[in-house]
Amino acid sequence: MTPNLQAIVDEIVAAMAAETERGAPARYIPGLAALSTDRFGMAVVTADGATAMGGDAEMPFSIQSISKVFALTMALGKIGDQLWRRVGREPSGNAFNSIVQLEAEHGIPRNPFINAGAIVVADVNLSGHMPRESIGELLRFVRFLADDETIVVDEAIARGEAETGYRNIALANYMRAFGNIHHSVELVLGCYFHQCAIAMSCLQLAMAGRFLMLDGMQPGAGRVISPRRARRINALMLTCGHYDASGDFAFRIGMPGKSGVGGGILAVVPGKASIAVWSPGLNASGNSQLGTLALERLAEATGWSIFRAR
Ligand code: GLU
Repeated sequence: MTPNLQAIVDEIVAAMAAETERGAPARYIPGLAALSTDRFGMAVVTADGATAMGGDAEMPFSIQSISKVFALTMALGKIGDQLWRRVGREPSGNAFNSIVQLEAEHGIPRNPFINAGAIVVADVNLSGHMPRESIGELLRFVRFLADDETIVVDEAIARGEAETGYRNIALANYMRAFGNIHHSVELVLGCYFHQCAIAMSCLQLAMAGRFLMLDGMQPGAGRVISPRRARRINALMLTCGHYDASGDFAFRIGMPGKSGVGGGILAVVPGKASIAVWSPGLNASGNSQLGTLALERLAEATGWSIFRAR
C-alpha cells in the first residue's frame, strides 16, 4: 500500500469539508434534487488489497451513469465486438443526454457512456430476458464484483426517473425509428432506469472496480474479462467517462473514470488502485464538484496517473 494512504484520504476528507464551492445536486431526477451537498465520501482499494476510506464512504447513493460501466462489461460478454456495430467509441463533445448527433449518424450513438449509447447497451442486455431478469442479472454481476450481496436498486429513484425521463424516452424512440433499439422502448427504459438507480457506497464501488485495475482479474474470484477488454473499457472511461468534460478530467486527474449525476465517480489506476468518491453537488458539466477536486488531490499526493512513468 502507498505509505500513508489513509492519512492522505483523511487530509482530503478534511479539505473537502472546508470547501465552499460545492456545486448543486441534479434537479431533474426526483430523489436526487434533495440530497445535501455536505455529503462527501471516498474509498480507495489498492492492487495489493489494502483499503483506505473516509467521510461518507459507506453511505449508499444512486450510482446513475457509473452503472454504464458494468452494463457495458456485461453486454460485451454477451455479444462481444458486435456491439460496436450499434454504438460508437468516440467522445461525443455534447451533453450526456443530447439527441443532436443521432440524426446525422443514423441512430448510432457516439459511445456507450452517453445516455443514448447506454440505452442501446440496455437493449442488448435485455435480449432473451424479461426486464426483471435483465436487471437481476446486472445486479448479481455488480454484487459479485463488489463481493457484497446487500447491494439493491433504489426503487423510488427508478420510479421517479421513469416519470420524468422525457429526454431518455425521446432518445430511445428516436433510435428505435432507426432500428437500433430492438425491444419495446418502455421495457428497455425500465431496465435502464433501474440500472441507474442501483445504490452503492464508495467502498462497494471501489471494490466493484477492482477488475478494471487488475487487467480483468477479480481478486479471490478469478478472471472476469480478458486483459484486452479491461484495457478497452478503461480507454472508453478515459475518453468518454465524464460527459463533455472528459478531456478536462484526463488533464486534471489522468485516470480512467466514470461519473454519474448522483455525484459519484469511479476512477481506476491500472495496476495500482480502484477509487470511488461521492458528493452530490455537481459542477457545470454534471460531474461531482468535490469528487473531481478530491481525485485531483489524490492524484497529486500519490503520483497516480496513467500518464506517469512510474
Ligand atoms: N439516469 C440518468 C439519466 O439517464 C443518468 C445520467 C447520468 O448519470 O449521467 O439521465
